[in-house]
Amino acid sequence: MIPVNQPLLDGNEKKYLLECIDTGWISSEGPFVERFEQAFARRVGRRHAVAAANGTAALDIAVEALAIGPGDEVILPTFTIISCIHQIVRAGATPVLVDSDPLSWNMDVEQVAAKITPRTKAIMAVHIYGLPVDMDPLLALADRHGLKLIEDASQMLGQTYKDKPCGSFGDISTFSFYPNKHITTGEGGMMATDDEELAERARSLRNLCFQPGKRFVHEHLGWNYRMTNLQAALGLAQLERLDEFVARKRFIGRRYHELLQDVPGVQLPLTRTEFAENIYWVFGLVLDKTLGIDAASAMQRLSLNGVGTRPFFWPMHRQPVLLNKGWFEQESYPVAENLAEQGFYLPSGLALSENQIGQVADQVKSILHNR
Ligand SMILES: *Cc1c(COP(=O)(O)O)cnc(C)c1O
Repeated sequence: MIPVNQPLLDGNEKKYLLECIDTGWISSEGPFVERFEQAFARRVGRRHAVAAANGTAALDIAVEALAIGPGDEVILPTFTIISCIHQIVRAGATPVLVDSDPLSWNMDVEQVAAKITPRTKAIMAVHIYGLPVDMDPLLALADRHGLKLIEDASQMLGQTYKDKPCGSFGDISTFSFYPNKHITTGEGGMMATDDEELAERARSLRNLCFQPGKRFVHEHLGWNYRMTNLQAALGLAQLERLDEFVARKRFIGRRYHELLQDVPGVQLPLTRTEFAENIYWVFGLVLDKTLGIDAASAMQRLSLNGVGTRPFFWPMHRQPVLLNKGWFEQESYPVAENLAEQGFYLPSGLALSENQIGQVADQVKSILHNR
C-alpha cells in the first residue's frame, strides 16, 4: 500500500529529542518551546508566535482572544475543516459561509463583501491545499468595516502571497503540525501575530488563564492547550528543513502534473495563480461528472489497487451537527458541493519516492479509463 502520507524525520529530530530526555525537560516548561516559537515567528515574518497543542486549539484560542462571542458573525469558507468553526459555535457566535472558487478551490473573496452586516465581527481566511487565498481584498474589507481577520495558514507554511509569507496577514494566523502538514510535531499548532496584547492573551488562554503572582486565582476561563518540549524539539528540527520540504512538495506536484495532465475528465490543481506558485500541500483531483464516477468510488478502487487517498473536505453547510442546530438549512454552495462529491487527493507525503508517484499515476489512469 502506498500511504497517503509519510513524514520525514531524519534531520535533528532525534538529537533534540534526546536532549529533552537527557535534561529531563519534557513538559511545556522546557526550553525548546520558546526556541521553536522564536524561530517560527522569524520564519513567517511576525513579531510573536505562540505554540499550542494542535491546530484546532490554535483556532479556538485565536477566536477567543479576539473576543468573538454571542451576536457576532464570522465569515468563513464552507469548504474547510470543522476545526475552523468549533469555537465560533461554542462561543455563541454565528458562522456565515461563502462558496469556493472552482479553480483554486479557495474561498471566493467576491462573496465576502455581500455577507457583511452590522454584526460581522471577523473574517476567517483559510488557505486550501496549496494556493493562497487572495488576501488583499479581504484586508481592504477588514480595514473598511473595522473587522478582525484570522488567517488559517495550516496548509500554507512556506508559501507566499505576493512574495509575503502566508501566516503574516491579518490580526492573527494559525498553523497545524499534524504529520501531514509541511512540518510536523506529531500533534501541534501555532498562532502568530504582530500584536503584543493579542499574543499575551493567547499565551494566557492556552495556559488556563493562570495569573502571574496570583496562581490559582482566575479572572477568565482558558484551556490547557500547551505544547510540550518534546513536540517543540521535533518542530525546531523540522523547521530547519522547511525550504527543502517545500521544494520536495513542489517536485511531487509537478511530477503528478506531467503524468496526469492529459487524462480526460480530471481537473488538476492550478500550477499557479497571479499571487503564488502552487506549493502542493496535497495533490487533489476533481473528477468531471461526465466520467460517471464520484470521488468515493474512485478512492475505493484506488485502495483495492494499493493507493491510499483522502476525500476532500465535506462542506460546513452539509455537516449534520451544524444542520441539527438549525443553521444553513436552505443554503447551497454548488462549487463546494461539487468539490466534496468529486474531489479527493493522492499520496504526497515527503517520503514518497518518484517510483511511487509513477505507480499512483498509472493506477489513476487505469481505474478511470479501463472500466
Ligand atoms: C490540519 C488543519 C487544521 C487542524 O489542525 P489539527 O492540528 O489537526 O488540529 C485546521 N485548519 C486547517 C486548514 C488544517 O489543514
